[in-house]
Amino acid sequence: MNLEETIKVYKDFLKSKGLLYTQPREVILKEAMSALYHFSADELTSQMHKNGINISRATVYRTLASMKEAGILSSVDFGHGHIHYEAKKTKKYHEHITCEKCNAIYEIQVDNLAKVINAAGAKAKFKHIEYAIRISGVCEKCL
Ligand SMILES: [Zn+2]
Ligand SMILES: [Zn+2]
Ligand SMILES: [Zn+2]
Repeated sequence: MNLEETIKVYKDFLKSKGLLYTQPREVILKEAMSALYHFSADELTSQMHKNGINISRATVYRTLASMKEAGILSSVDFGHGHIHYEAKKTKKYHEHITCEKCNAIYEIQVDNLAKVINAAGAKAKFKHIEYAIRISGVCEKCL
C-alpha cells in the first residue's frame, strides 16, 4: 500500500464508524507512515513535538489504536511494557527478534510459520487467526 491507498483505507474505516478524517488524524497518519519502523506511541508523540506539531499524547494513542483496527498498522509487543507499531505499507511478512542486552530489534523471516499456524488453527475450526511470537536472544554486537 502506498500513502494514497493507506489514506483511502483509513478514510473508509473512519466512515464506517461514523468518524471524520480530521486534521490531527491526517497529521498522525503521515507521521506514522514516515516514522522509523517499530515506534511506540510515546516515541511518535515526542518526534511530532520535536517537529513542532502539537498534538496530545492521548490523541496519538487513540489514533494509532484506530489505525491498527483499520489494518494499516500492525502492532508488536517487545516486552517493554508498551506496544510498538509499524506501517504495513511496503513491508513483507516478517517476525522480530530482540536483543536482551541492548534492546536492538531485527527483522527475520521464519519460513512457513504463518502456514503452519493457520493450518493448526483451521484444524481446531478457527478462523481469522492472529498470532504474536516473541523471540529474543543476544545480538552479535553484545556477544
Ligand atoms: Zn519500547
Ligand atoms: Zn545487543
Ligand atoms: Zn518489523
